[in-house]
Amino acid sequence: MSDEKMIAARLHEVKVPLVIEEVDIPKPGPSEALIQMKACGICATDVHTALEGTVSTAYTPITLGHEPSGVISDLGQGVRGWKKGDRVAVYPQVTCGICPQCREGRDGICINTRVLGMHRDGAFADYIVMPVKNLVRIPDNVSFREAAIMTDAGATPFHAVTKRGRVRPGETVAIFGCGGLGMNAIQLCRLAGAARIIAVDTSDHALKRALKVGADIAVNAGAEKPYKEVISVNGGYGVDVAFEFVGVNAAIDQAVRSLRRGGRAVTIGIGPERINIVAPFFFVYNDLALIGSFGSDIGDLEKLMGIAAAGKLDFSESVSSVIPLGDVNQGISDLEKKVGNPVRIVVSME
Ligand SMILES: [Zn+2]
Ligand SMILES: [Zn+2]
Repeated sequence: MSDEKMIAARLHEVKVPLVIEEVDIPKPGPSEALIQMKACGICATDVHTALEGTVSTAYTPITLGHEPSGVISDLGQGVRGWKKGDRVAVYPQVTCGICPQCREGRDGICINTRVLGMHRDGAFADYIVMPVKNLVRIPDNVSFREAAIMTDAGATPFHAVTKRGRVRPGETVAIFGCGGLGMNAIQLCRLAGAARIIAVDTSDHALKRALKVGADIAVNAGAEKPYKEVISVNGGYGVDVAFEFVGVNAAIDQAVRSLRRGGRAVTIGIGPERINIVAPFFFVYNDLALIGSFGSDIGDLEKLMGIAAAGKLDFSESVSSVIPLGDVNQGISDLEKKVGNPVRIVVSME
């Protein structure tokens, strides 16, 4: 491999394995950094993009991967505050800075957003170029692998718990779907002061992990009406907040039904089904809320990194396996088929 070339895993065609190929190393422009990749999480979005075609990219061939961490290896003109060798996590959306949402600090819902691995070449590669405004410093006690999953699998539930669900001390919560994001939501609800955390999932493996990271009670959603079980284990009361990480109508419906009067359900899972829940009689009469929560703002990632720096978050349970870049197709397929009950499979370039 020559100096100007690198390896990247690129999507040429949907439902065809990513092509591992040599491409040019990108060059950082003004206010940008060239980052040598150390780790990148594999996300359900990669399954949707590469294997299903339900999420489409702006162009092909395109390098996928949007949960990266690495080291700054070069800087463009006019960069201050960063130097070569800095360890960084990368916020995956390049925002416009001028739309109404950006003006409010809501980067995650910028209308002109450009997402890594979707609108620009992503991080299943040896290097990426990103604006330095997208970089968050990784504290010494956090590994590249943990930092990588924090960019999405950590920051997304952080956003849902703190900004959309606004969990307050003493509230009871239910987490529907305890995969990568749900697991992290459990820890974050604990930090937010939740009194009781009820984990709901169809997999006993997932429930066992949920209890390990801090859930108080596990409910197997295989039962006919899991919401009844949630209410029953919560002393006969509905919960204050329910989070839904699956993205299917049945789970959203159960999450809403598990609420106390005045409760709020937050849905983070993405899926194509129409949402069809309780009648307005029930929804309005009980003063309920159903809130969508998408991605995160870069400030969420910054705060999350601060909590990790203080040693109050442990994402080690969330990294279920580590694979080399050359095995990324296997990783995406294992995630789709849930081989070995993966939480987060991380591609490592270290
Ligand atoms: Zn993702
Ligand atoms: Zn914007």
